[in-house]
Amino acid sequence: MGLLSQGSPLNWEETRKYADHIRKHGIIQFLNIYNKLKDRQKDVLKWGDEVEYMLVEFDDKDEKVRLVLNGGDVLATLQDQGENINPNHPTLWRPEYGSYMIEGTPGQPYGGTMSEFNTVEGNMRKRRREASSVLNPRETLCTVTAFPRLGCPGFTKPEYRPTPVETGVSKSLFFPDEAINRHPRFSTLTRNIRHRRGEKVVINVPIFKDKCTPSPFVEEFPEDDGEAARAALPDHIYMDAMGFGMGNCCLQVTFQACSIDEARYLYDQLATFCPIVMALSAASPFYRGHVSDIDCRWGVISASVDDRTQEERGLKPLKNNKYRIFKSRYDSIDSYLSCCGEKYNDIDLTIDEEIYKQLLSAGIDKLLAQHIAHLFIRDPLSVFEEKIHLDDENESDHFENLQSTNWQTMRFKPPPPNSDIGWRVEFRPMEVQLTDFENAAYVVFVVLLTRVILSYKLDFIIPLSKVDENMKVAQKRNAVQEGMFYFRKDIFKGCNPVLDGTASAQNGLESDGANEEYTLMSIDTIINGKVSYSPMSVPSMTWSCQRGFFLLKGVFPSHCRQVLEDYLGFLSDRVFTLEYTEH
Ligand code: GLU
Ligand code: MG
Repeated sequence: MGLLSQGSPLNWEETRKYADHIRKHGIIQFLNIYNKLKDRQKDVLKWGDEVEYMLVEFDDKDEKVRLVLNGGDVLATLQDQGENINPNHPTLWRPEYGSYMIEGTPGQPYGGTMSEFNTVEGNMRKRRREASSVLNPRETLCTVTAFPRLGCPGFTKPEYRPTPVETGVSKSLFFPDEAINRHPRFSTLTRNIRHRRGEKVVINVPIFKDKCTPSPFVEEFPEDDGEAARAALPDHIYMDAMGFGMGNCCLQVTFQACSIDEARYLYDQLATFCPIVMALSAASPFYRGHVSDIDCRWGVISASVDDRTQEERGLKPLKNNKYRIFKSRYDSIDSYLSCCGEKYNDIDLTIDEEIYKQLLSAGIDKLLAQHIAHLFIRDPLSVFEEKIHLDDENESDHFENLQSTNWQTMRFKPPPPNSDIGWRVEFRPMEVQLTDFENAAYVVFVVLLTRVILSYKLDFIIPLSKVDENMKVAQKRNAVQEGMFYFRKDIFKGCNPVLDGTASAQNGLESDGANEEYTLMSIDTIINGKVSYSPMSVPSMTWSCQRGFFLLKGVFPSHCRQVLEDYLGFLSDRVFTLEYTEH
């Protein structure tokens, strides 16, 4: 979940005193990296996935399933058996927010050849086998996005009671602090988010109503001091802790681009796919033991780390804070980064004007400068006493501090100082699936998509406000089959990504509805294309203006065709609804 420093964490009062210092040096660190590496070219495609896991105990005797809070020990054992003794070990393990979570990645990045796609599922299996082998009997490693009974009484092993008193880190009525990873980063983030915000986080998820659900659905919380009663909405499942969001699991993919321009182009193109692939992967309908009316974790995590004050959220006039901020730190992106995207930046972007000017005068272009100046409107949330004065030439922790606590759908990642890693882009919206086969299918699909975008110079960009509307639709129950999403009509006719800074003349927002560059489509149409049927011929697919990615199948070399066909077939089936149109 981001940068891990060792040391003594500062509380919110101390942290805020260093906020300007950290921002100032974070920008210097960014500029140092940028100036050294802006012209770096011809990096090859390398990429990797991240899978987050939960440790679960199945207690057959009591007929209970609980989360096991020994992620710390499991992680230490896995690292001791793996990377600590063998630098070429095929898996890497990292901590995650929950003390019942771990995160696994391949030991080395995958390379750019098609045959690497054949190895993804195998590596995921290896990870599952390896971690499973160090668990106790009855424990299992689960790739489940949201544990259905997270926050219900007795959901952990060992069992702990939540501590809704001021000494607690989350002060939750439901989520005990022991379920938070013991590394101080995680509890510090939790406490500082709450203190910065001035109250507990508030998460309200609409309840799914069947004939047995009371209407209105209103809960009472015996240990509430009044805060929950004020925050909980009727007909919603109320949650009050960072763990309800960051304690969920996801599936992420990071790619190294060949240059900074390619990274910026892919960042923009993939941003439009975030809601689509998120809905396609939606896997989290249950919260705090209830059935909800959504099936995606996104809004839950977004609210779970929303550290904005009432002023910043627009509930009170600005007095002690500098900005009105429209989104949580965990949210969709707010600006495109490439010349192709520039004209489609149509949402309000709050930026730190001073930082913006400083970046411009240091030679950074407008789009990149506003991106960084937007990330830097946030305060640092977790600062370690020993890590305040750094060597800005050779370290980037202050930059990473803000970068890694802006949890957006896409992340544009500059190379770390003194490494051979290039400019990278991370795709972050996907929900994790139950099996390695499914997770491999999503990961491979996204990587294939980047190759197709680059080879065919495709353009999927639509106004960012429409991407945000898609994000809302994507989280509704069964959006994968019922949702309609804005999607570009002609993906060949957009910007020419020569990556030289010139956008093509065809670009632009057209106001005349009929001539809009985008239209509403189902995910079936986006993924599978339009199926036309005539009684005299077999069903045929047309890759006309509503072509489907199903036809990605056509571009595979034979030695990896089978596995890719299986993956794409699975994704295609997930939304497949056959439409018959008479010819
Ligand atoms: N677990 C978080 C999610 O479900 C992501 C944390 C991370 O960035 O690694 O989106
Ligand atoms: Mg993670």
